[in-house]
Amino acid sequence: MLTSICGINWGDEGKGRMVDLLSRDFDVVCRYQGGNNAGHTVINDKGRFILNLLPSGILREDVVNVMGPGMVIDLKHLCGEIQKLREGGIAVSPENLKISDKAIITMPYNVLQDIMEEDRLTKATGKPYGSTRRGIAPVYADKYMKKAFRMGELLNTELLYKRLPDIVEWKNMTIKAYGFNPVTVEEMVAYFEEYGKPLAKYVTDTGVYLNNANAQGKNIMFEAQLGALRDIDYGIVPYTSSSSTIAAYAPIGAGVPNLKLSNSIGIMKAYSSCVGAGPFTCEYFGDKAEKLRDLGGEYGAATGRPRRVGPFDVVASRYGIRCQGADEIALTKLDVLDSYEEIEICTHYTLNGKVIDEFPFTDVLDECKPVFEKVKGWNCDLSHCRTVDDLPKEALDYIRLLEKLCGCKISYVSVGAERDAYIKMR
Ligand code: GDP
Ligand code: MG
Repeated sequence: MLTSICGINWGDEGKGRMVDLLSRDFDVVCRYQGGNNAGHTVINDKGRFILNLLPSGILREDVVNVMGPGMVIDLKHLCGEIQKLREGGIAVSPENLKISDKAIITMPYNVLQDIMEEDRLTKATGKPYGSTRRGIAPVYADKYMKKAFRMGELLNTELLYKRLPDIVEWKNMTIKAYGFNPVTVEEMVAYFEEYGKPLAKYVTDTGVYLNNANAQGKNIMFEAQLGALRDIDYGIVPYTSSSSTIAAYAPIGAGVPNLKLSNSIGIMKAYSSCVGAGPFTCEYFGDKAEKLRDLGGEYGAATGRPRRVGPFDVVASRYGIRCQGADEIALTKLDVLDSYEEIEICTHYTLNGKVIDEFPFTDVLDECKPVFEKVKGWNCDLSHCRTVDDLPKEALDYIRLLEKLCGCKISYVSVGAERDAYIKMR
């Protein structure tokens, strides 16, 4: 079985914890896009872990984790992440971690480029893209320019170091144009030696591995970073990531374009949050925002940035579900709404008095106004609920209403960050 788990909204839906929960039924967990620009927080019996690059299955002993060709990998960051896990008592070895030889390496100069461009944009327009400044957009650009390095090159550094000087020269043309000091070949060699060499033992053809695993009847899960609205093609461009966060891309990004997904599970939050700049139509401001942000602990896992928040957005979520081809939904963080007497839902937008209920083009989105409707809250603690029967009527009504408005069944509901704090709906 090949299952994809993906975000329906702007990211930070709680994919990490859901993958951690659901991964017990899977033998293999794959990351297929993105880099260390996003973060998953997973809390289990060993502690609290933030994963930026590694698949969440790394926290389960018997799961094999794959980092696919669709990813961009910051070598230093990955070394650090592996180190932190080891300190927390988690084993990482070539047995449980397989990195695609075709995955792209994020270089230190890509990080520099990201910073230079965000700073230039801020100065020139006052409107930066809200990048996490981890080099993701520049390294994906290098990939499509065919100037990037791939993980497989770490297995033959002699060839790699022959290719390096010309690429450094090419990159320095850009760096100098920004008025920054050029990087040197020696610095890049030192980087590969210190952070690339220790990772070489994990590098393999993940396509071969995954096809074999599939042929043996293993259950394979594809785990996305970020959500549908951050997709490079379908999201709120340019306030998106630079990769495809869409479930349909999972087989390609993991190394198995020949295989088809069996099902797609969408992770959707019981309210809305959005990190960084860009249109966020259902946004709350002032006290309303502060209350929800604090209740939900909405501060970025990768950056600590306070996230923008708002009520559940039907227009955006329905679009997200369509983009992800979601067969079912895991609804997260329902407990965050425990203390509300009344809960607002953004049912649609308006534009010049016209109802907008299909998620519009980014420029149009900026002009849209949210329309909020109120439903009765449950106003009690859900964190102990473990079955449908434990749920108060109003909470069940809220879940059923979201199902109806979004046209997709909700199979799981989470009521706390801990591994067992969830309800299986059917
Ligand atoms: P991801 O990027 O989609 O994996 O999500 P993040 O890890 O960035 O953000 C989700 C946050 O919500 C994390 O801090 C989780 O520990 C926390 N979380 C996940 N599920 C629940 C839940 O059901 N209730 C509460 N209160 N917190 C949750
Ligand atoms: Mg996150």
